[in-house]
Amino acid sequence: MLPKSHFIIGIIIGALLLPFVPWYYVIAIIAANVLIDFDHYIVAVIRNKGDCRLDKALEYYDRYNAIKNKKTYNFTVFHTIEFHILVLFMSTVSPIFFYVFIGMLIHSLTDLVFLIKHGNIIEREYWFWRWWKNDRKI
Ligand SMILES: [Zn+2]
Repeated sequence: MLPKSHFIIGIIIGALLLPFVPWYYVIAIIAANVLIDFDHYIVAVIRNKGDCRLDKALEYYDRYNAIKNKKTYNFTVFHTIEFHILVLFMSTVSPIFFYVFIGMLIHSLTDLVFLIKHGNIIEREYWFWRWWKNDRKI
């Protein structure tokens, strides 16, 4: 799912939460909902051998998404269950991390719905430990 779609979903959910949650936490939810996808950019930079240009990252995903029946996946560390748990645990330090976690959770759930809908659920590694134990390919 594209960051633009996540942003729109974040704005809608943020608007619904605004009467109940302080505005700065709503901003944290919306920002986390979009910025979690930064790991996709990191993967593209690695796959492009260190080329940091955004247009090259977008070209990489155009090529990647055009492949049918993929045999590889992109390891996106911010999307792993362990990273979500880490951020949730950090909410014991500051409450803002709880709202960052909520934004990440909204993002991951909408990603999951999108992947199921498009029959691509196996295109992602959801567990850091399994990636670490297996191939560790980005
Ligand atoms: Zn995502």
